[in-house]
Amino acid sequence: MIDPVFRSAEFTHAAPSWDALPPPDLPEVALVGRSNVGKSSLLNAIVGRKALARTSGNPGKTRAFNFYRLSDALFLVDLPGYGYAKVSQTERDRWARLIERYVTEREALRLVLHLLDSRHDPTALDRAVMAAMMQTPVPYVAVLTKADKLSGNERAKVIRRASEALVAAGRGAPVVLTSAQTGRGLDELRQWIEGAAGPSPSMADLEG
Ligand code: GDP
Repeated sequence: MIDPVFRSAEFTHAAPSWDALPPPDLPEVALVGRSNVGKSSLLNAIVGRKALARTSGNPGKTRAFNFYRLSDALFLVDLPGYGYAKVSQTERDRWARLIERYVTEREALRLVLHLLDSRHDPTALDRAVMAAMMQTPVPYVAVLTKADKLSGNERAKVIRRASEALVAAGRGAPVVLTSAQTGRGLDELRQWIEGAAGPSPSMADLEG
């Protein structure tokens, strides 16, 4: 069963620039990945809703940091998918810089979930995000998407390859193999997300 805190997810705002980000009042968990990696599908699957986040009908148009509040516990922040081919190089560079700034400077950020397509080697931009993450102490988890498309043998192999790429980038990180279609790995992701929010209010009450 999905914890009600995930089902409570609610879209609150879209920030098209750094200055439009909301005040950093709640812990934030960021979802980062290239366009078409399966980010919207995974977000919908994590919260157990069919269409909270738009899936890629028109990925070029959804250029914003989209904030989803989970109860009053945290924000899931869906970062714009990078590398979308139909966007100009200038625009792609601008977003790459903004994503890099967000993951290195945003004070409310508690966890970065970096989505990577399990069927492909990391792209140059994927590696740039990994490199940016090596400059910050913010916890980082590599999330391999679309695992349902792999055979059992391939699944073991892609986890190993992703781990090696992370070590090569300078810092190891947990790797979680997921599928929005079968639900594989989603409970583990939810645990990471809940952990990033810190102790739940009920725990704090008990301690207080
Ligand atoms: P986004 O651009 O990163 O938000 O990606 P979307 O969630 O829109 O997904 C891009 C494409 O990948 C769509 O055609 C999805 O149906 C497909 N997709 C997403 N997640 C999965 C998955 O877990 N398994 C499979 N087989 N396809 C997926």
